[in-house]
Amino acid sequence: LPALPSDARAGRLDSTRFSRYAGATRFDQLPISKKTKDALRQCNKYVQMSDIQRACLPHALCGRDVRGAAKTGSGKTLAFVIPIVEKLYRGRWCPQDGVGSIVISPTREIASQTFDVLRLVGRHHSFSAALLIGGRRGKDVQVEKELVNECNILVCTPGRLLQHMDETPHFDCSQLQVFVLDEVDSMLSDPSFKQTMNAIISQLPKQRQTLLFSATHPKDVKDLAVLCLKDPEFLSVHEKS
Ligand code: ADP
Ligand code: MG
Repeated sequence: LPALPSDARAGRLDSTRFSRYAGATRFDQLPISKKTKDALRQCNKYVQMSDIQRACLPHALCGRDVRGAAKTGSGKTLAFVIPIVEKLYRGRWCPQDGVGSIVISPTREIASQTFDVLRLVGRHHSFSAALLIGGRRGKDVQVEKELVNECNILVCTPGRLLQHMDETPHFDCSQLQVFVLDEVDSMLSDPSFKQTMNAIISQLPKQRQTLLFSATHPKDVKDLAVLCLKDPEFLSVHEKS
């Protein structure tokens, strides 16, 4: 592993480093690991960053909280999957270290698509990850309970995550590094979501990086951002979305 400055090891890059990468247009110009760059290159698809990726990745890779808004199909998934993988990699996270990142997705479909992107970006890394979604396509909850404590990255629907927090013996997210709320605008239409979210957030460590993404940014998304994010960068790339 190449030597990194100490704050990069802690998952933060200082503002000088940020400005050096703020103008990056391609993934291979970012301060990310060779393992991640190789995985992206091998997809033959990810060369140029999309607008939301260019806007968010330099901040998120510095360890900052980010609230990103961009329309559907603009590439928000990689804007949080890359920072998760890099944060754990810089922290030399390994399977025994437990849960280092949690992603909350609104639906089972989106959760499983996100999981596929994570597998793709993380293919040369050695993290363990689990998809916790319940339902027909998910695993039995008992099987999941045996898995969760050995996984570094959990991609979940909100109800299923809360179920594990409440029921899984020794569920431990006290070392959580990166917390992601994806497509929050679509979750806020569910009347029980706010209550579920409050219950989840109350169990997370306060020292963490949080990344929140949505396609639109109505008031209830802002309210949730105030609740979850610390001094965030707000990056919106489509004026009218
Ligand atoms: P969103 O979450 O904003 O709706 P996704 O992350 O699901 O968008 O990405 C939408 C599509 O764009 C996916 O098929 C993804 O593979 C593709 N994509 C994302 N980023 C890039 C990129 N930088 N270059 C080419 N294709 C991309
Ligand atoms: Mg998305």
